[in-house]
Amino acid sequence: MTEKLFEQDAYLKECTAKVVKVEGPRVWLDRTVFFGFAGGQQSDSGTINGKAVIDVAVDGPDIAHTLEGNHGLQPGQEVQCVLDWAKRYRIMRMHSAGHIVGVIMEEKLNNPEYFGSNVSVDKARLDILWPENVRPYLAEFEAKANQVVKAARPIRVYRDPANPTRFVWECQGLKTMECCGTHVRNASEVGGIYLKRESKGKEKERIEVLLEA
Ligand SMILES: [Zn+2]
Repeated sequence: MTEKLFEQDAYLKECTAKVVKVEGPRVWLDRTVFFGFAGGQQSDSGTINGKAVIDVAVDGPDIAHTLEGNHGLQPGQEVQCVLDWAKRYRIMRMHSAGHIVGVIMEEKLNNPEYFGSNVSVDKARLDILWPENVRPYLAEFEAKANQVVKAARPIRVYRDPANPTRFVWECQGLKTMECCGTHVRNASEVGGIYLKRESKGKEKERIEVLLEA
């Protein structure tokens, strides 16, 4: 099983690791800082021994890294993993923003059903089944979310004591959520949040969560 260092410390930007398996461009390590696409969160970029990591995927209990070109890595080799930290940190801010807005929205709309959610560098999106245009609610959601940011509420992610394979996201004062992603430690790091609405068809509403900077 790949040791997922981001589960202990989302702020870890690099690590050394040992190559355990190689299949063409794909490389498996004993431990990694690279987050593989999961729970709607975009995967990380960066380098392993200076070679660009072009894809990171969850592979059962492991993480598979796809490298560009002829990486030349061999099992047993020690390598240096370096994250594209600017990208990861922005995803962390986006993911935390998505949850803050999500909790506020769920409370107001009484837990509508989701048909999708996603977190990327540019935006987080919450796709819900809802019979009306959600635009009239957005100003309220936005104001409440920005209050959480201004109040600098601490955020933590911890293993669910009732089911240690799952993780719980908690922003002080808000309802907890299940999550497997990476987050900032404090809501103040998110910065200004603004929201947009998109229709995704009959009774399907999308709330886009964007950051001011
Ligand atoms: Zn999440």
